[in-house]
Amino acid sequence: MKPLPTAYMAWLMMELWCAGCAASRRPSAPDVGAVVVPLLPAAPTVPAWTPQPPSPKLHIHVLDVNQGSATLIVTPSTQHAVLIDAGPRGAGEKAVLPALDNRLWSFRDIELMVVTHYDADHIGGADEVMAQVHVNRLMDHGDHAYWLERKGLEMAQYDAAMQATTIPLDFDETIDGVRFQCLARNNQTRFDEASDEVAPDSGNDNPNSVALLVSWEGFELYIAGDQTGSTEERLVEHVPDVDVFVMNHHGSSSRGSNGAAFLDALGPEVAVASMGQHKGHQHPDSEPIDHLLSLGAAVFITNANPYSAAASGIPEERVLDHEPSDYDGAIVIEVDAAAGEYTVQVGDARVTPRFPVGG
Ligand SMILES: [Zn+2]
Ligand SMILES: [Zn+2]
Repeated sequence: MKPLPTAYMAWLMMELWCAGCAASRRPSAPDVGAVVVPLLPAAPTVPAWTPQPPSPKLHIHVLDVNQGSATLIVTPSTQHAVLIDAGPRGAGEKAVLPALDNRLWSFRDIELMVVTHYDADHIGGADEVMAQVHVNRLMDHGDHAYWLERKGLEMAQYDAAMQATTIPLDFDETIDGVRFQCLARNNQTRFDEASDEVAPDSGNDNPNSVALLVSWEGFELYIAGDQTGSTEERLVEHVPDVDVFVMNHHGSSSRGSNGAAFLDALGPEVAVASMGQHKGHQHPDSEPIDHLLSLGAAVFITNANPYSAAASGIPEERVLDHEPSDYDGAIVIEVDAAAGEYTVQVGDARVTPRFPVGG
């Protein structure tokens, strides 16, 4: 049980105390000359306290899926869920499905699911999710049949759904007040001139990742799977200064991911790397992390990784899972537009850092 707020405790004690003394609390006007003997001392004046309904918040859960990525966005009415990637195989069941069911919501359908690209650490859990909840709209970067075959992915649910549609480059939709804009997909950006069109990368799927800008009431989130320098460089002139950046490619710098100019353009106050303990990948890389720190960003990571010097340098309270082999919930960002701030909750840490919206 959670401790009760102090104000609530004060109110509760008043109620209990007053239940036994209602008569003395509300005496009728005494007759002239009558002697009124108070049974109890006058009740101290306590300011009226009525519970306020919590103000609506945008919820962003960067899930601990170990090496991979899955981010759940729940709109302010808590009526719509948007899932961006589903983590590796196993994470659909162990991380995504549990996140769809908690004390605030219980989803039986996902309004929009975007798979950024076909690497197994992003799409691997999709079938497990789709077997349990209905996905109203499934979108990816296109070339669906080519990549499923190339990657040797057996995705019965994903394949059978067949409603997977290529996200339009100019995709711009608002769900319950939250705006989702596609900035890049299939190695193209929405700002490319027809004359300098770049072909999709048919060998490595990372450059084809879908890049999304999510905004609500002045708050902005950038999330783009394993985006590389190929599209980052073409977006430098176009991306806004965002609040939160879910780092590209798990914080890697390979193939120009998380390039300095791009990080300068995004200028995030908060950066989150979704990664696992992996001897080979050693995510995240020091270069982008150091650059983000030099910009004054607070950097959070989903898992400890002793093979990454950068991960080892992140303060303990900004690391979600210190024994990275299981699934430990999420780094939870909650945007309170009315208060003009958002919080970043790392597991059950008692101290929750706050940041101003639009900072
Ligand atoms: Zn990845
Ligand atoms: Zn990838």
